[in-house]
Amino acid sequence: MMRLALSPAYLVAIAMFGAGVFGGVVCDERPERPVVHRAGYRVLEGDFHAHTGWSDGSLSPLGIVRQANRRGLDVVSITEHNTVWPSRLGRAYANATSGPLVVTGEEVTTARFHVIAIGIESTVSPDQPLDGVLAAIHAQHGIAIAAHPVRHFWPSLLPARESFDAAEVMHPIAYSDRSAAWRWSDMVTFYTEARAPLGAIGSSDYHWMSVLGLCRTLVFVREPVTESAVIDALREHHTVTFDREGNAFGDETLVAALRSEPYVPRTSDYAYRGSSTVDRVLRTIGWLGLTGMLLLRARKRRVNERDEPQPK
Ligand SMILES: [Zn+2]
Ligand SMILES: [Zn+2]
Repeated sequence: MMRLALSPAYLVAIAMFGAGVFGGVVCDERPERPVVHRAGYRVLEGDFHAHTGWSDGSLSPLGIVRQANRRGLDVVSITEHNTVWPSRLGRAYANATSGPLVVTGEEVTTARFHVIAIGIESTVSPDQPLDGVLAAIHAQHGIAIAAHPVRHFWPSLLPARESFDAAEVMHPIAYSDRSAAWRWSDMVTFYTEARAPLGAIGSSDYHWMSVLGLCRTLVFVREPVTESAVIDALREHHTVTFDREGNAFGDETLVAALRSEPYVPRTSDYAYRGSSTVDRVLRTIGWLGLTGMLLLRARKRRVNERDEPQPK
């Protein structure tokens, strides 16, 4: 049996770490979500691309809903690879709690293209050509968004570009635009050179390293705000998203409305902001405790190795 002998210093470090965790939970306030109107519409902050632990994400569907609350999102879509079920689970949880609004979704994922399907109830199969995927989404009155349309996907996407409802213009690759294969500028070109207008979408493609709501879409919705009102707004391209320099992409009338009466989206970067002094202090104590635990373990291992009887 393992012997549990913890030194007083180690117990203090554990207690400090526990205080940090406790502080993080108790002080975890969510930002205010004031009611905002522009150009006669209700303005919502949305993120329409997030993954869960169902595949290669980290949070559960319920966790995504809770994190969306913390990130001040009004509407979120869970878009798991090739299944709509996690988003339906998230929607049920959001409806039973205090939101935010969840719009169902899926990322139809193949080697040739990725398509975000929003507002669907049944899974759209990836085992068909892109035309079939788009038709299946539209047959459910859903919205088809070209996911991260970088040049790698253009051979499939370009012939069908005008059949999409929208395209992602902002994405976390805008924050690490170093790879030749995944260049953010390709996404901008895909959107701006479309021969028919597309809705402009900013999405965080949240898995675990980036931040949910890092890139956001402002959706201009007719009230009352419902899931179908959001879908209608996306279908009518009533969206605006901003790049890192604050340049707006989207419906020209809405961009003009934001120019005459500016609107600054809520926290939307990698920075952590403690909600209060207590929060910051307790988190600092927690980090010190974790550091102490690691240092004490390393020291104990060194001592054990030194004291072990040497083989003769
Ligand atoms: Zn993708
Ligand atoms: Zn994705």
